Formats: sequence, structure tokens, C-alpha cells
Amino acid sequence: MQSSQTIEFTLDWQHPYDALGTAFYTGVQPTPLSNVHWVARNHALAEQLGWPVHKWDSEKLLSALSGNSVLPGSQPFASVYSGHQFGVWAGQLGDGRALSLGLLDTAIGPQEFQLKGAGLTPYSRMGDGRAVLRSSIREFLCSEAMHGLGIPTTRALCLTGSPDRVLREELETAAVVTRVAPSFLRFGHLQHFAANGDTASLQLLVDHFIAKHFPHLLSVEAGPKRYTAMLARVTRLTAEMLAQWQAVGFCHGVMNTDNMSLLGLTIDYGPFQFLDGFDPAHVCNHSDHQGRYAYARQPQVAYWNLFCLGQAMLPLIEDQDMAVAALESFKTDYPMLTDQAFAAKLGLAGSQSGDHELIESQLKILAAEKTDFTIFWRRLSHATALLATQAPAQAFEKVRDLFMQHEGWDNWLPAYERRLQGQDLLKTSSQMLQTNPKYVLRNHLGEQAIQQAKIGDFSGVADLLRVLQTPFDEHPDFHHLAGFPPDWASSISISCSS
Ligand code: AMP
Ligand code: MG
Repeated sequence: MQSSQTIEFTLDWQHPYDALGTAFYTGVQPTPLSNVHWVARNHALAEQLGWPVHKWDSEKLLSALSGNSVLPGSQPFASVYSGHQFGVWAGQLGDGRALSLGLLDTAIGPQEFQLKGAGLTPYSRMGDGRAVLRSSIREFLCSEAMHGLGIPTTRALCLTGSPDRVLREELETAAVVTRVAPSFLRFGHLQHFAANGDTASLQLLVDHFIAKHFPHLLSVEAGPKRYTAMLARVTRLTAEMLAQWQAVGFCHGVMNTDNMSLLGLTIDYGPFQFLDGFDPAHVCNHSDHQGRYAYARQPQVAYWNLFCLGQAMLPLIEDQDMAVAALESFKTDYPMLTDQAFAAKLGLAGSQSGDHELIESQLKILAAEKTDFTIFWRRLSHATALLATQAPAQAFEKVRDLFMQHEGWDNWLPAYERRLQGQDLLKTSSQMLQTNPKYVLRNHLGEQAIQQAKIGDFSGVADLLRVLQTPFDEHPDFHHLAGFPPDWASSISISCSS
């Protein structure tokens, strides 16, 4: 048998911006780390990419995906972008600690591979180009959790660690996440060239993006009409992503325009949080003193960010009214998509007048006591099946138990029951169980896995990866990962520092 150490990984790397030129990127070599080791490997993604799993054992791959060597044919680079941070123009940013290895044709289409934390780039500004184990575990797990929930996201292939010290609020150790996406282009990439008045580069980049990622738009007349159609498409994808975030209780935490993907992918996992109790005003990022990125404000912020994108594309769209019209679709699409998402969570078949009010009144009841968001929906999903054979009071008993004040719930339930009349309740329940996850990456779960990993035990990360990749399944052995958060969960402080 061939030793895994000798297996060559032959990959046909392409450079996504080769045709565009060096205005878009700078070639840069990763900076090695000492004594690198695997922390986690995502076999499911490797299989989807069409990479035989046994190649994971290769020392060469460990070295390359830690940034200690460069795979043959890869020409690593960092790209430049700008953006608004917390509503204020921040000027030039860029891949300060993300290095692209290039683009590969895979079984799930062309994918770009990036190392996050592989050292300084020309865009590192005051940073050190590194990522710490703590935040890298969070990014690795949350990327796959979002994918498991069916929410568009960049993916995470693996995570490597090193004992090398990295200074944050305290001394931590270095890690590198290999992340994968069809493109890592952000709103900020376009803002960069627009802010510099470089319309020629802006157009090159946008034409490239359309050709590679929205080829269906090539049938639209070239010029302003096509650029408007692209803006409308990004607006739609962003509305879809936001509706899904809200429906699962996901707070991103740093929705700066440089953290918004042109493909509508969730990107740049930092101080994110899945809500424990339902609190629309919840702010997960302790650096966000104004609450700009509170859960309930995310849709508005997305629209604000899209508006910045529209402004950046104005030199190409030429007509302000056309740009505004493309953006306006967010105002109808987002509420419609959100209502659809919450109607599915409630198991409502079809669409009826009064559904929106039913959803809104339910969310008010949850907000009143900050009821646990994930557990509420999961219990409701199970209760709906019981309603097929039991009286409502019995069927929904465990849901009712979630409230201290029962009045709101008791008043709401009859309207819900009436709305479900005529539906196959067993089928409805099983659909709800595929919509309302049992497992989400709550802060305290990530924190426990991080504390274990810090002392060299990566089993907690592996367990979480397993359940989060299929979060609608029961996984009876991991039931303890689906419980209420412990009291100490609310004291976990997550800032931008990563
Ligand atoms: P973020 O808030 O994580 O999206 O980062 C904003 C900008 O700062 C991006 O351009 C990042 O690449 C850069 N950045 C963040 N942390 C570091 C770091 N440790 N070293 C270099 N650049 C960083
Ligand atoms: Mg970022």
C-alpha cells in the first residue's frame, strides 16, 4: 500500500484575477508557523469537493494549509478592498490576513481557497496577519453550521494550529482556517475602485464578476442595463440571506460593507451569535457600543450596505433612478421572504391573510420573556405532531412550559390551531422539524469546545462539527448540546478581536 506521506496532491490552480492585473491584488507568500498540527478536518466538504479523504493524512497538505509551504502551481495573493465600518468610511482595507491560494475546479464547481491567518499582507495595516485558535474554531464551526442550516455561506475545509504566540487581549496561540467559496468578492471590492475614481478598474471587476458568477446576465444588454440587473441580483441574494439569518436567530455582529459578499454568502465570522433567548435588541459584538448591528437592525443595515454598493456602481449604471429601483426591491422582497421563512417555521401550508399577524404576535410573545428561540421552535414542531391525537392543552404543554406568564401564549394558541386546521399534522410536524433546527452553535457550546482545544483536546470541535452539519437530525448521543444555555453563557464577551 502506498504511504499517505508520499501521495502527491496535484491540483490545477488558476488565478481568479490574473486577467485583471495587479490593481486588484498583490502576490504574497504565507509566513510559516512552527510545529503545526491539525485541529479539525471537514471530511464532508472534502468529499463534496471530490477530494479523496485519505489524502488528509499527507504532511504536505498540513504544511500547505498552515501556510508553511505553497502547493505546486498556486500563486498566493491578497486582494484589495475598502469599505464602511460601523457606518463610517474607513478607506482602504483588504485581505489583511487572508491569502488566496487560487481557484480550483471541484466537484461542486470552481472554488477559491483562502488561508485565514497565514501572515502579513500589504493590507494588514496595524494587524499581525494572524488569527487565534479561539476565533478560528468559531469561524470553522459556524461556517459549517450555517451550511448545515441551508444558509448561503463561505465554507471551512480545515483548521490547523500552532503553539506560536499571538497577542490579543491576552496571549493566545495561532491557527489557520482554510475557507472555500466560489468567490470572496465583497461590496468593498467595488467600493474601493469607485472611491478612487477608477471607473475602468471598477468596470473590469464587475464584468469579470458577471461573466464568472452571474452568466445569465450576459443575455441582458451590455452597459447600464446589465449593471442594474447585477445590482438587483445582489439585492435579492442579500434579502434571501437576511431572511434566513433572522429566521434562525443569527446575529452577524460586524455587518460592515467589507464583510458583505457579492454572492450573498455569509462571510467573516467574528463576534457572531445565535440568539439564546429571543431579544430583538440583542447586540452580540461587545465592541458595538451603539448597537448598530443588533439582531432586529440587521435587515436595515443590509439595505444601507446595498445602498453603498449602489453608489459604488453608479459610474456604471449612470442613472440614479435605475440604481434606486434595483435597490428598492429589497423593501418588498425582504418582508415577503421573512414571512415565508417564519410561516415555514410555524408549519403553515400555503399563504393566507392573517399569517403575517400570526407571526408578529408570536414573536412579540417570545420577546416579552426572551424565551429560548431554538428550543421554542423545536418544541412547537414536536407538539404539532401530538396535536393529531391529543387535545391542544396536552399537545402544547411543553411549549407552554417555556413561558412564565401564560396569558400571551394561551391567547395566541387558538388562532394557530385554527390556521392548522385541515393540514396533515404529522406531515406538517416533520416539515417543521426540517425547518427548525435542534442544534445551533450557541456561544457557550463554542466556548466549551475552545477551552478543550486550548488544552489539546479537539474532540469537542469534532463533535460540534458532526451535529451542526446535520442540525435537524436528532443525534440522541448529543442531546446535551441542544439544551438551555447555562447561566454563565450570558457573560461570554465576544468582541471584534480575533
Ligand atoms: P474584520 O473586522 O475582521 O472584517 O477586519 C477588517 C479589516 O481588518 C480587514 O481588512 C481585515 O483583513 C483586517 N484585519 C483584521 N484583523 C487583522 C489582523 N490580525 N491582521 C491583519 N489584518 C487584520
Ligand atoms: Mg472582514
